[in-house]
Amino acid sequence: MPGFEVFGDEEKKEILEVLDTGVLFRYEFGEQRRGIYKVREFEQQFAAYCGAKYAQAVTSGTAALKVGLTALGVGAGDEVITQGFTFVATWEAVFDVGAVPVFAEIDDTLNMDPADLEKKITPRTRAIVPVHMMGAPARIEEIKAIADRHGIPVLEDTAQAAGGRLNGRHLGTFGKCGTFSFDAVKTMTCGEGGMIITDDETLWRAMSEYHDHGHDHAVNPGGRGGEGRSFIGFNFRMMELQGAIGLAQLRKLDAMIAAQKKTKAALREAIAKIPGATFRTVLDEAGDSATFIAFFLPDAEKTKKVNAVLRENGAGAIYFAENTWHYYPKWEHLLAGSTLAKSGWPFKGPDGRRRVVYDPAALPQSAAIMDRCLVYQVPVKMSKERLAQMTATLAKAAAAV
Ligand SMILES: *Cc1c(COP(=O)(O)O)cnc(C)c1O
Repeated sequence: MPGFEVFGDEEKKEILEVLDTGVLFRYEFGEQRRGIYKVREFEQQFAAYCGAKYAQAVTSGTAALKVGLTALGVGAGDEVITQGFTFVATWEAVFDVGAVPVFAEIDDTLNMDPADLEKKITPRTRAIVPVHMMGAPARIEEIKAIADRHGIPVLEDTAQAAGGRLNGRHLGTFGKCGTFSFDAVKTMTCGEGGMIITDDETLWRAMSEYHDHGHDHAVNPGGRGGEGRSFIGFNFRMMELQGAIGLAQLRKLDAMIAAQKKTKAALREAIAKIPGATFRTVLDEAGDSATFIAFFLPDAEKTKKVNAVLRENGAGAIYFAENTWHYYPKWEHLLAGSTLAKSGWPFKGPDGRRRVVYDPAALPQSAAIMDRCLVYQVPVKMSKERLAQMTATLAKAAAAV
């Protein structure tokens, strides 16, 4: 990660093609655009790349989650189960559609623990949102089997794992739909942008209409505004410049992943020399998108000690136990129920009472894992000098424990 490291002539060429027509809107402008539909082409190519039938581009990964949940019919009164290690966007989207997020434990994959998921299913559970954190798969086959048994749809938050696979099949294609983010720090990026993939035509149509005020796009490219509307919608449209960049980045995705894999292997070798170090369970090494490397030390004390040495030597790792954006006990606004709404929504219901209260100690299994976990981002490009410096620092840390 991230794709901006490889911006080049390909992105420039795609963008100029759009600017030469003057059409930034993804629909309409039939004659003026001279057959150039970058967002539509991006959708088609992204779906084909993943092995999905349909793709819907939107403005962000957060919007993709919201559009996906909305199309699945999730709303007020419903519960959605996700995991306590994810970016805040995953559960923001759940609140935004009016539902209440429920958090499951993670296991040594650093993703949803299927056993805990099953315990948290209630008659109100209307969707399950496992996240493929840091480029590697959740136990999606087990999660899907549990969900199927209960008749609950799975939406895979694949924001951090574009190009990742499990047993040859693309992440994002196991559930009813899969969402992606192309924000500024993701493996492939359009600056901002998102995508939802699905094999279900009816679901895709709902997403297509909802994300554009209810326009049905049935005659696109063609007339707009003459049609009726089936339901209320919103505006989450991607613009042509984003689609253009996305097309160029998609063509580079496999090469970026291959480069990351090489760097990750070198880092892994250096980390393995730290006494007691073990690695995150990656269910399919061949399908790993290798955007991060995560490892564990035997206890929290050793983890902090090792990271102190790494930090002092300019190679500090991410310690997610202290990270306020990705880890449940650190989400103070969630725990406190902080909202701009004077009514207290979404934490309070119309009757003024709390709909849900979150206990910071509710996920002890996740805490026991995160307290021992250190993470490095794996860049697409890493200089020989930086790799040598990191390797030397890791050797120093190994000597300190
Ligand atoms: C980045 C991210 C999102 C949100 O994507 P944006 O495009 O930034 O809105 C959602 N979920 C996860 C796990 C992410 O990492």
